[in-house]
Amino acid sequence: MRSLVNDVDSFISRNEKYYLERLFRLLRQPSISTQNIGMAECASLVQELFSDCGIENRRYETEGHPIIYGEWLHPDNETTVLIYGHYDVQPPDPLDEWESDPFEPEIRNGRIYARGAGDNKGQFVASILGAKTYLDIHGRLPVNVKWIIEGEEEAGSRHLATFVEQHRALLQTDLVYTTDGSSHESGAQSILLGVRGALGVELVAQEARWDNHSGNLGNIVPNPVWRLTELLHTMRKGHQVTIDGFYDGVRPPTPHEEQILRRIPYDLEGIRRKSGYDALDIDSDTYHRRLMFEPTLNVSGLFSGHTGKGGRSIIPARATARLDIRLVAGQDPDQVYEALANHVRKHDASITLIRKGSVPASRTSADHPAVLAIAKALEQSTGRRPVIQPSLGGTLPDYVWTRILNAPSVIVPYANYDQNNHGPNENIEISYFFRAIRSTCYVLEQLSRVTFNEQSGQSAHTSTVK
Ligand SMILES: [Zn+2]
Repeated sequence: MRSLVNDVDSFISRNEKYYLERLFRLLRQPSISTQNIGMAECASLVQELFSDCGIENRRYETEGHPIIYGEWLHPDNETTVLIYGHYDVQPPDPLDEWESDPFEPEIRNGRIYARGAGDNKGQFVASILGAKTYLDIHGRLPVNVKWIIEGEEEAGSRHLATFVEQHRALLQTDLVYTTDGSSHESGAQSILLGVRGALGVELVAQEARWDNHSGNLGNIVPNPVWRLTELLHTMRKGHQVTIDGFYDGVRPPTPHEEQILRRIPYDLEGIRRKSGYDALDIDSDTYHRRLMFEPTLNVSGLFSGHTGKGGRSIIPARATARLDIRLVAGQDPDQVYEALANHVRKHDASITLIRKGSVPASRTSADHPAVLAIAKALEQSTGRRPVIQPSLGGTLPDYVWTRILNAPSVIVPYANYDQNNHGPNENIEISYFFRAIRSTCYVLEQLSRVTFNEQSGQSAHTSTVK
């Protein structure tokens, strides 16, 4: 049997120049979704890349920016993988902090500097070039591969869910593989199996119709700040949220997930440095458990009365608290909102609750055979054991795959951890770019050996919010 490792390595080193040129072509094209700059042009370049790599592709218009769909299918392949990435980028501001033009890629110290180098052009281009590499070596891919390269990730993926809902049959897959984000700080590749969801609300306490004189009406007119803070106090005791039903459905870690948690590298000093909270003292187990398996009830804003310069002696008319609640797998945003509404009604019905928006959490089981196969592939490709993380602390629209497509979903970031995405001097290490091409080859190969269950079985492996 031919060894993939030698073939891939020598093939990539012979084609380095071509691969870099392909990436640079996309990096030179600005594609700022939030400012509608260069989007149609960039969408065409994505299509051109697919075509040059021998991959069928189509452009789908949405109410926002186009989605580019690519596919390489073979009737003998039993497995289908859907790869997700995005061709839009953040604005390059502040421009004067860039050492080179953000839309003219430059190589310095082994890195490619350009807006989108890491987030996400370098990563999705590598997935396409990885497939091309495999095709060039073997003449066909070992699994069917579909791609969704969208143009609105940096604008909140506004039309992705609707698109996926409308194209379920087209997108039918055994697994969704997202290539976005940063590798682990240690340089090892990460495998993320889910994300936390989010629910935003506002609590408004309104007393009088206008601010009143605190001397003339003090002790006469009630102050909404007391009302609001008293309500907030009823919601939490120590670390525990005391809202009835708040934790309903929360899925505790499985024994395997417990094991995985213990293997995640832990650097308390680094966390202190990054958070600016020097006194932080938390053990590794509590840290990972709270970030991945527990919801939060966070007050992200609290305002009332006079907050500008100088003083005003007033009794404010209203007080507002903004809550940013992070949800975990098993929690339903609607139910959590209902629990909160009941709590407010019970404790202070005069306070108004306003719902701002929500994204459900997602988590794919670490026991899914595809997870093991991907871990093996990444270890073969990089020579290092990847870091498996059951969930990201943050929120991404991963539910689109687990809930709408009903497919297991894994996120494998290909960029270096210090890619500085969204900031000036965004970059991708050249070695990471080539490693991503290699890893794609190994992942496709390993996934072809996995037996995926039939449709009905997929949901058993995929835990999504119902
Ligand atoms: Zn981004």
